[in-house]
Amino acid sequence: MDDQTSENQIATPPRQGPISGWETIPLYGRIVIALVLGVIAGLMLGTQASVLAIPGKLVLRLLGALAPALILAAIVHTFMTTQLGGPLAVRLPRLLLLNTLVAITIGLTVANVIQPGQGAGLTPPPSHEETTKTANPLALFLENVPKSLLGPLGDDGKVIGVIFIAVAFGMALRKERERPIGTVGHLLELFLESLITILHWIIAVVPLAVFGIVASIVGTEGFVQFKALGVFVVSVLLGLTIQAAYYLVRVRFGSWVSPGQLLRGGRDALVMAFSTASSTATMPVTYAALKDRVGLREQSASMGALVGANFNNDGTALYEAMAALFVAQMIGMDLSLQQQLMVVLTSIIASVGAAGIPEAGLVTMTMVFTAVGLPVQYIPILLTVDWFLDRCRTAINVMGDMNVSCLLDGKQRRET
Ligand code: ASP
Repeated sequence: MDDQTSENQIATPPRQGPISGWETIPLYGRIVIALVLGVIAGLMLGTQASVLAIPGKLVLRLLGALAPALILAAIVHTFMTTQLGGPLAVRLPRLLLLNTLVAITIGLTVANVIQPGQGAGLTPPPSHEETTKTANPLALFLENVPKSLLGPLGDDGKVIGVIFIAVAFGMALRKERERPIGTVGHLLELFLESLITILHWIIAVVPLAVFGIVASIVGTEGFVQFKALGVFVVSVLLGLTIQAAYYLVRVRFGSWVSPGQLLRGGRDALVMAFSTASSTATMPVTYAALKDRVGLREQSASMGALVGANFNNDGTALYEAMAALFVAQMIGMDLSLQQQLMVVLTSIIASVGAAGIPEAGLVTMTMVFTAVGLPVQYIPILLTVDWFLDRCRTAINVMGDMNVSCLLDGKQRRET
């Protein structure tokens, strides 16, 4: 018994002092503080601040490492646990794909018209060879952080990577060690939950990364990028608003629900999506709102809100496509038609694979960038605004689920 108590204490040491104070501040508050401190540090240190960009690279590397495993576990879990079948299930994929394509088209159009990244004048990053030439101890350390969670296991000699992974899972599983595992489903859930625990740890260091990135950008390049980032935020908000308008029009003409009824009935879910930045956490609220407040049939509510929610992340798709174009514009890289099509394709996959949890879109974004040959080094810039845009796109993800449910419910109201 005593043993147990002392071990538990090791797992969750009581925090005191400044750290516990820092942790009580919500994530967005911590990021804003980091942003302000980053600007000050950048102004004070000038070009010397460039080394501070390393934590940002580290966070990105870790997010990227988590992506394949997270996508795998999320999709397997969805297929294992959701009820598939019935006539509605045939219409569902068609509706989901159409909505996602509309979202990406809106995103690409807005980004092409407004050109938020134009004029940022960033130089493309140095090639790999140059980077290795200037490698310092920190860069060497970074080299050992696994690029993919499963990579080092199949790669002879990458012992340090294996140790990283072992420590991460060991820590994540500490509080779960007594948990009984009865079925394959339990095992998968445990795997998914451990990944999410690890993701939360990475998110905890995001403010530090933001501080470093902002300081190094302000110190070396001034404020030009932030102007571009401001235009990017406005462009994404515009894109998401157009997507919301599209949903309302579709609902108006494709179902018995009026846009007003949908907004009034779904208000709780939308507010919750914005405040938690998690469509999965919002799922029960979305379902209840559709069934009880809007008055949809049980089956259509569950198809859209429970099944659709796992695959349908239109807000995320729109965002990923816009982000890719934005960074391409910032470094003056012209994306060919073929590359833009690749953006569409990978954004669809990335949005389907994004779990409905905070920052999941940022995790899968590395995949979109890599597929079209965009340098992932610039994703950290997006960290500075992602906490806000994540909330907005989550609300649109949830609104997309509501839209699908209404369309599945058809033009005939259920009899009460
Ligand atoms: N946070 C989003 C959601 O829960 C996913 C994302 O990061 O785009 O729907």
